Amino acid sequence: MKKEEEKIKKLEKAIFEISEIVGASDINTDEISNLLYSYDASMVRAKPSAVIHIKDIEKISPVVKILHKYSIPYTPRLSGTNLSGGATNQKGGVIINLSPSNRIRQIDTINQIAVVEPGVVNINLQNELKKFGFFFAPDPASQNVSTIGGNISENAGGPRCLKYGVTSNNILKLDVVLPDGNEATFALDDYGPQIMSLFCASEGTLGIIKKAYLKILPLPKFFLTIYSEFRSLEESMSAVADVIKKGIIPRALEVVDRISIEAAGKSNEINKETEALLIAEMDSNSSDEINKEMDLIMKILKLNNSLEIKYSDDPLVSEKLWKIRKDAYPSLAKIATNVLVEDGCVPRTKLVSTVKKIKEILNKNAVKAGLIFHAGDGNIHPNIVFDERDVKETNRIRKVAKEILKEYIKEGGTISAEHGVGVEKRGFIALQHSKETINLLRKIKNNLDEKNISNPYKKIPFNNELSEIKTKESKLSENMKILISEIKKRYQQKIPSAIAGNGSFLKEIPQNIKTIDTKDIKGIIDFDRDNMTITVESGVSDTNLLSFLNSEGYKAYLQDSNSTIGSIIARNDFIEIRNTLLSMEIILSDGTLVKFGSKVIKDNSTYDVTKLMLGSRGTLGIIASVTLKIFKDIKSLKFTHPKNIINITPFHIKIKKAFDPDNLFNPFLTEKIYGKF
Ligand SMILES: Cc1cc2nc3c(=O)[nH]c(=O)nc-3n(C[C@H](O)[C@H](O)[C@H](O)COP(=O)(O)OP(=O)(O)OC[C@H]3O[C@@H](n4cnc5c(N)ncnc54)[C@H](O)[C@@H]3O)c2cc1C
Repeated sequence: MKKEEEKIKKLEKAIFEISEIVGASDINTDEISNLLYSYDASMVRAKPSAVIHIKDIEKISPVVKILHKYSIPYTPRLSGTNLSGGATNQKGGVIINLSPSNRIRQIDTINQIAVVEPGVVNINLQNELKKFGFFFAPDPASQNVSTIGGNISENAGGPRCLKYGVTSNNILKLDVVLPDGNEATFALDDYGPQIMSLFCASEGTLGIIKKAYLKILPLPKFFLTIYSEFRSLEESMSAVADVIKKGIIPRALEVVDRISIEAAGKSNEINKETEALLIAEMDSNSSDEINKEMDLIMKILKLNNSLEIKYSDDPLVSEKLWKIRKDAYPSLAKIATNVLVEDGCVPRTKLVSTVKKIKEILNKNAVKAGLIFHAGDGNIHPNIVFDERDVKETNRIRKVAKEILKEYIKEGGTISAEHGVGVEKRGFIALQHSKETINLLRKIKNNLDEKNISNPYKKIPFNNELSEIKTKESKLSENMKILISEIKKRYQQKIPSAIAGNGSFLKEIPQNIKTIDTKDIKGIIDFDRDNMTITVESGVSDTNLLSFLNSEGYKAYLQDSNSTIGSIIARNDFIEIRNTLLSMEIILSDGTLVKFGSKVIKDNSTYDVTKLMLGSRGTLGIIASVTLKIFKDIKSLKFTHPKNIINITPFHIKIKKAFDPDNLFNPFLTEKIYGKF
């Protein structure tokens, strides 16, 4: 009882102090307001104790400092459209509503940057940019409502992300407020690990995004939409897989099934036998290129028995062709009390088999779901309709959803492609990730948010959620085993190591430090030509990899510099590599092996440690293996070298300590990158 009273007192004091900053009228503590902010677009409900509305982003830091002083948990919130419970506060803390912080600060078409506050609604930015002939690539289906801050925090995807990458691929710099209220800026150009990437998909658990610097692109001159009906979902998936296999990257490749079309009341607009509708969209500044791609795609659609094909480059007709796809989710939401939007991703080669499995699971359990796909990415959304008021039914639906997620994992995919983890998926992380990987995630969160107040209870599983933990070990080469055993031996005696790739920075290594050579781990682990990915051990050189791929008719976004892939990433040689980086295995200084990402295009199941490792210079862990996107053709290769600006923040040393608490890896670089250990 005393504890509860103390908690209330602390909250009252904090609210009083915060009201001096934001004004009393911008704080709600009444029951109705708290109820209004107790939910988001997921099934999670949790009532906060207060809602603080922030119009001026300069007030975020002083408000968070007060919350930190009183150890009050807070949840940043924008439009609340996330589908995993991320915008609810689980600990009876406060909601920080940033929707009123919605100014577009700058549109700089010369440098192709837009600077925005977190509450800018995606479509409002697109409309502004259109006036200048530009666009921001991420276009989630929720873009009429969801905000840029929410898109970054969830690392949102959208139809166009197939060609232009997800949100994190379109961010240049972030101004953030750390969990203790201090401010920091993280950018692509920073020297050292790429902390900026850690904020994309962090779901408010590592602090608050105050301002974002976005990459904007000129609108392409030409575009064309193809609409194609199929007698079976499997045929449509096979067409998608064939398009990808050919190395064609349209800007969108989307599919909806008949149930979704019927829900949209559009079954009279399609053929009687139609079970799936595929929409492909291309854009380019060259009409020849579009026509060439169109011919190839049409051929593939026909080979996969398309029932009917239409196409148009008229924006009005195109809008009509898109309408069924765009209406699918809202229509499903109209025909049922609730819709559980399940989200996951599989390698594109596994789309057909996964769809078969999903249908079996749904039929076996007599569950109705509309299937909607960002198919080109391998991203699947079964939209399960049900009535939440029926508890038994809800539990059954949750079990079915879990069974589907397990299928994604079996196929080498992920339990979360673009809808985050939040509360809903916390319990499924262990299906995909090992105990060691989860431990590292916990250390990152614990070190960066020592009081566990920045959107607590999200993203990272509880101990009682680890019963089905992944135990399957990665198959390691003999050389990798030798390397790991050497690291373990050194760890026992706390012997520091200098991590060397091709030895280019050996001159920096003090003589008294033993080196660890990664040159001998140079195997090709998985070459999945049809999924357009390759997984290699990090000691493979770019020259050898390019030569291997070339002999097979493929390309990678790499220079021919005779550097190992591990060192290219560890030095962050050129910025463009991050857009082709999908997954990574890392050996930590105690010899444990952790893995982030998977062989899929979108994976938001953890913090983005894969991209954090860019520029880490061997100080966080040894990059053991890497999965990269590969291509049939790369139109132009551009290698932009980061400016490598030294920017040490309070987060830096905490990250180093989460990964390498004994300062054993490349300790001679620690001070320069992280400050005093
Ligand atoms: C109909 C529908 C369609 C959708 N379609 C897509 C789609 O195509 N692709 C896709 O990826 N998603 C989609 N979503 C999911 C959702 O729209 C996205 O996750 C979106 O990015 C959330 O934005 P928001 O403004 O609603 O953020 P919110 O839901 O308010 O917040 C999202 C998360 O970010 C955190 N957060 C909020 N503000 C900040 C901040 N300033 N700093 C740090 N953290 C913060 C919150 O705590 C929360 O964890 C869809 C959802 C719906 C309902």
